[in-house]
Amino acid sequence: MPEAPLIDLIFVGLINGLILLFSILIHELSHSLVAQKYGLKVKEIELYLFGGVSKIEEEPRTPKSEMIISIVGPLSSLVIGLGLLALFFLPINIPSIMSVTFLYSGISNIGLSIFNLFPAFPIDGGRILRAFLWKRRNDLLSATKTASKIGTFIGYGFMIYGVFQMFTAGLLSGIWLILMGSFLNSSAKQSYVQTKNDVILSNIGVKDILSVPYMGIPINTSLNAALSKFFIPYKKSYFPVIQNDEIVGIIHFQEIRKIPLWQRSEYNVGYLMRKLSEFQFINDDLSGKEVLKKLNNLKKDPLLLIVEEKDSKELIGFVGRSDLLSSLEFWSLQKNNKQN
Ligand code: ZN
Repeated sequence: MPEAPLIDLIFVGLINGLILLFSILIHELSHSLVAQKYGLKVKEIELYLFGGVSKIEEEPRTPKSEMIISIVGPLSSLVIGLGLLALFFLPINIPSIMSVTFLYSGISNIGLSIFNLFPAFPIDGGRILRAFLWKRRNDLLSATKTASKIGTFIGYGFMIYGVFQMFTAGLLSGIWLILMGSFLNSSAKQSYVQTKNDVILSNIGVKDILSVPYMGIPINTSLNAALSKFFIPYKKSYFPVIQNDEIVGIIHFQEIRKIPLWQRSEYNVGYLMRKLSEFQFINDDLSGKEVLKKLNNLKKDPLLLIVEEKDSKELIGFVGRSDLLSSLEFWSLQKNNKQN
């Protein structure tokens, strides 16, 4: 049998790559479409060399929806793979170069389906495992903790196997496995934190997050004095600005930093502050999750929400990213204390 010319090999490789990229896209699209059917927002789909990630904005609401959203991806890869293999095995007359392509991409898709079924959270198999545990325990966080531990463990497994491969099968495939393992490992940990934050935020309200305006900077304070008497000692990123005992605006550390050092004594905070009317106001009955959504939707400065009492319209506090982060930390400690 004559050797395949180089140009043919390149052709097979290229077409195989394109088919694989296209089928990964279909795999991810199937997740996204089903997620949308369950009312979840899909931000974007990212494609990587070894697969894709559908960025779904929030956690599925029930074990059943998580199970279905997760399983459609590997199922679609399997169907595409079997379809391509069928094209290879069908007794039809096609150029052998095409039939080799069908064989390769068929096997690649079935491989993709099997890889995604590994119970390594947050990939599909791990999500199916989490849905199963969630249904059994009726506790999303505890199910995520177990699934994420198994995911981390599998990640280490890949890395150890990769080191072994480097010495036996080849450097490249070993490095590939190690990279894959460390990706699995870090995504497992990261996804657990994400779920934990999501659970905490759905159980708290804006009143548990906001900063109470206990201290304000008088409007005619110079920027230098604002820095030395307020920002530096209290390590807060913003302060209310006070005029005649009333809050009239907000001064943010970022804004002061934009003014050159030698000019900071020439200006006062009144010059640099943002007036209250520039901010978005929210009611005090929102949930933590709604607050996060509102913060994420703020596209440009000032990245701060003003909280007012629903009925009296009285200003009761502020929520910025730093308030949200520190309250997440605080409430997760509270939660740990309750569990111990
Ligand atoms: Zn998937």
